[in-house]
Parts: sequence; C-alpha cells; structure tokens
Amino acid sequence: MGRPKSPRIAIVGGGPGGLTLARVLQTRGISATVFEREASPTARPQGGTLDMQADSGQVALRAAGLYERFLEISRPEGQDLRLFDGEGTLLFEHIAGSDEQLNPEIDRGDLRRLLLESLDPGVVQWGRPLRAIRPAGDGRHEAVFDDGSAGTFDLVVGADGAWSRVRPLVSPATPGYTGVTFIEIRLDDVDRRHPDVARLVGRGSMFALSDNKGLIAQRNSNGHVRAYVALRVPDGWVDTCGIDFDDPGAARARLLDAFAGWAPELRALLRACDDSFAPRPLYALPVPHTWATRPGVTLLGDAAHLMSPFSGQGANLAMLDGAELALAISACPDLDTAVRKYEATMLPRAHEAALGAAEGLESAIASDAPRGTLEHMRSRGG
Ligand SMILES: Cc1cc2nc3c(=O)[nH]c(=O)nc-3n(C[C@H](O)[C@H](O)[C@H](O)COP(=O)(O)OP(=O)(O)OC[C@H]3O[C@@H](n4cnc5c(N)ncnc54)[C@H](O)[C@@H]3O)c2cc1C
Repeated sequence: MGRPKSPRIAIVGGGPGGLTLARVLQTRGISATVFEREASPTARPQGGTLDMQADSGQVALRAAGLYERFLEISRPEGQDLRLFDGEGTLLFEHIAGSDEQLNPEIDRGDLRRLLLESLDPGVVQWGRPLRAIRPAGDGRHEAVFDDGSAGTFDLVVGADGAWSRVRPLVSPATPGYTGVTFIEIRLDDVDRRHPDVARLVGRGSMFALSDNKGLIAQRNSNGHVRAYVALRVPDGWVDTCGIDFDDPGAARARLLDAFAGWAPELRALLRACDDSFAPRPLYALPVPHTWATRPGVTLLGDAAHLMSPFSGQGANLAMLDGAELALAISACPDLDTAVRKYEATMLPRAHEAALGAAEGLESAIASDAPRGTLEHMRSRGG
C-alpha cells in the first residue's frame, strides 16, 4: 500500500505510548487521531511514578521535542534505591548524584499532562472506546466505537494496553497470570504524618524482599508515597482469599498477618497507609510475543509486549515504540514499509526486555529473596 498523501491514522489508546506516537507524528507534520476510552484527562487519577530511562523514555522525549521541559519537572533524586530483607537489614543503597540523569523520576500524571499539552486541540478524542475493528479491504480497517460511530483508516495502531482490542488482528495471544499479585497502597503527606515511613523510603524507591513476598515503595512528588504489597499467590486469589479489600480495617489486619515476623519499620507501611487497598494481579504476554507484519495495523507498548513491572521499562518501551513508529512513518515511502521497519526493531527489543522482566519477577518474589535482586542491583551498580 503506498502512503496516501494524508494517511488516516487511528491510534487506539492515549497512554504514554499512544500519546508519544501522536506527538512525534505531529512534530513531523503528520496528523493522527487518538481514540481514548476514558471520558476526560481527569477521569482517573494517574498515580505512581515512572523513571524515564536514558536509552528509551528519554530518547522518545527528545524525538517529541519535550526533553527540556521534562528535565524541569522530573526528579533526579528519585533515582535513589534501597534494598532490605524482611528483617529490615539494608543490603544495598544507591544515592543519586545531583547531576545524575540516567533515570530521573516523573509522576505519571505530570508525564501525561506534558504529552497532552503538546498536542493540537482535537487530536485526542476522549470517551471513544473502541468496540470492534475489522478489515475493510486494501489493507484498511474499519473501527467501530462504543457510541456507534465508525471510521475507516489506512493505519490502526493498537496502543490500548494489556487487554488490547486491536491485538487479535495480528495475534491470538492473551496475557497470562505471572504468579504474583500486587496490592497497591498509598500514603499522603509522609514527611509530616509518617516521618518513619518517609525515612524508610528516602527520596526514591525501596524494596524489601523475603520469603516469596515484598514491600515495594516509591516516593512521588508532594510527599506522596505509592507502595505495592507483593504476594506469590495462585491465579484468582483476589476472589478466593477471603479478604474484603473494600474493608480497610480487615484488609490491613490480614496483610499485617501475612508480614508477621517482618521488621516493625517495614510493617509500618501497612500500619500507616491510607484506607485504600487495590489488588492488582500481574499479567504478562507470552515471551516472545511476535507476529508477521500485516498491512494497515500494528501494536505498541503493553498491547504488543505486556510484561511484569519488574522490568521497570513498560512505559519507557511504550514511548520508544511510539517515537520510532512515528519516525518510520515520516521517513518511509509507504505505511507498510514503515510498519515493517518499526516491528523489525521493536519485536526483538521487547523480547529481551520481557525476558528480563520475567527473570526479575522470579528472583524478587522468591523463597531465597532478596539474593537474586541483590546480585542484579550490584551488577548494575546503581
Ligand atoms: C504496578 C506497576 C508499576 C509500574 N512501574 C513502571 C515503571 O516504574 N516504569 C515503567 O517504565 N513502567 C512501569 N509500569 C508499566 C507501565 O505502566 C506500562 O507498561 C505502560 O503504562 C504502558 O503504556 P501503554 O501506552 O502501552 O498502555 P497504557 O498505559 O495501558 O495505556 C493504554 C490506554 O488505552 C486506553 N484503552 C484501553 N482500551 C481501550 C479501548 N478499547 N478503546 C480506547 N482506549 C482504550 C486506556 O484507557 C489507556 O489510556 C508499571 C506497571 C505497573 C502495573
């Protein structure tokens, strides 16, 4: 398929990957529409913090012309890292230098705002969940949205995350449970309300790992800490464990039980956290997840390579995917060549990262933890 003069490009999903794709296309004079399920930019708190890595997320931000602005709002000190065992022994510590820019942290909400504010009005169509997508001949596809509207596009990019509706056009793969479930907890105003937790977490992230369990906490801006209780539990555990996560008193008591024997300063995270316990079973796509290039459709980010957060790379890769796909579209004479070029780089890179994520999860939430994670941190030296 030759590249139409003004190709109609649909990006399904306005996460970090889809928005980066739209932004880099825009900077190259190519228009695209992002169809996003959420009703508005403020429909869901974005929460959490992400490190933007020098060889992926930061490369994408440079291609998007947003790197300088990113430096103004990111937190280099967020690169601090601590590793404890369940007894509270500090085994590894990295203190970031003031000029260290390897992986500065940025709140997810700030990153999303940065990308959204860089897009022309109307590029993101809020409240437009994709319901179905089907081939319309000639390599084009017809997308049908929940509001009943439909459109035909020269290229459809599935940037719609873990449970992508676009993915079945290229692959029958579906995410599988990794064996680990996170329960997300949060603490506000830690420096004033919970100075002991503030000291434990420090300026960046802390991991406490032992006996197939973990407590992982990250400082966000404005004294907010987001933490994850990690448990190796069977598939479906959230429904069968008998914990009512909507009853904060009961959930807190049961989780404190699960961490009986852990150091009091670590259990303080569970004692002090706000009344919000959000279970998140972790899923991943098979490794490798690959497909033969199809005309008029491709995937990026979690839709292409959902992996456990133990890679620490999901958002970074999604953004790099988006930037590289945009650059390929602007450089290639036709869309098929651009998609082929993009997938030839993206798929092997995702394979390697997904292997790392699986290994990272297996060694972090393990009976001999934190041995493997400690070796990994020491080998990276940071
Ligand atoms: C606990 C946790 C911690 C993490 N920590 C990190 C980290 O430190 N660093 C890092 O790099 N990564 C991290 N990740 C991974 C990261 O969150 C994801 O890899 C990243 O968000 C993927 O970006 P994406 O744009 O591909 O998809 P998403 O961020 O999932 O965005 C997909 C978008 O598509 C929309 N959508 C979905 N379905 C439809 C539809 N049918 N129609 C229209 N729109 C739709 C969604 O509303 C969403 O806005 C973490 C993940 C978890 C779970």
